[in-house]
Amino acid sequence: MIDTHCHLDIEDYENLEEIINNMDGHMIVSGVDRKSNEHVVKLCEKYEKIYGMIGFHPEFANQFTEEEKQLLESQLNHKKIVAVGEIGLDYHYGKEDMDVQKRVFIEQILLAQKYNKPVVIHSRDAIADTYDILEKYHIEKIPSVMHCYSSSAEMAEKFLKLNMKFGIGGVVTFKNSEKLKEVVRKMPLESLLLETDSPYLTPEPFRGTKNEPANVKYVAEKIAELKQITVEEVKKQTTENACKLFHIPIM
Ligand SMILES: [Zn+2]
Repeated sequence: MIDTHCHLDIEDYENLEEIINNMDGHMIVSGVDRKSNEHVVKLCEKYEKIYGMIGFHPEFANQFTEEEKQLLESQLNHKKIVAVGEIGLDYHYGKEDMDVQKRVFIEQILLAQKYNKPVVIHSRDAIADTYDILEKYHIEKIPSVMHCYSSSAEMAEKFLKLNMKFGIGGVVTFKNSEKLKEVVRKMPLESLLLETDSPYLTPEPFRGTKNEPANVKYVAEKIAELKQITVEEVKKQTTENACKLFHIPIM
């Protein structure tokens, strides 16, 4: 199994070594700003089973200066940095800096295209603008993922047409997530990736505690139940999907 999206910041885990050992499989750790991007590169170098993605999350869009962009470009040459992410739009806490968010999102999509890397997208309360930008900038040219997908099945069809994959996490195990369950039932297994978004969004039955990559198995179990197939099939296909998309040479 591969947890295709987690955050392993030292501030969140005193026992990081143990958390990494707990995971029976690989992890793709996500950066959100300069500090976490640098930490991701270090983790990739220290642990065989860790790969990384780097980028500026919309919350930190205003920190994305020309200097940061150059640093990001140099980090993208690292062989274990497999994607640009997480990048996108987040209007949850207000729309004041919408224009900055959009500009930084577009700049990073263009970077990914320049370096031929997949992109991993964060979109919160901004699905229409996210779609417009992805369509306009031809996201179908490179592999891409809607991380922690939370919109409708109808929207999912549109993203699928742009050749995008869907990161499915702990939310799918929640009682009140019927919309996401419908997406999982309708989308082909070939378009799904497993993720935890640790330390957030802990799946049932551990909701309320701090999440960790090893919990990705509960997401696999729920997807198997929803699609009425075996957990082994889910694990095998989603691992294959992730290896292919991120060019991870483990299968
Ligand atoms: Zn994330």
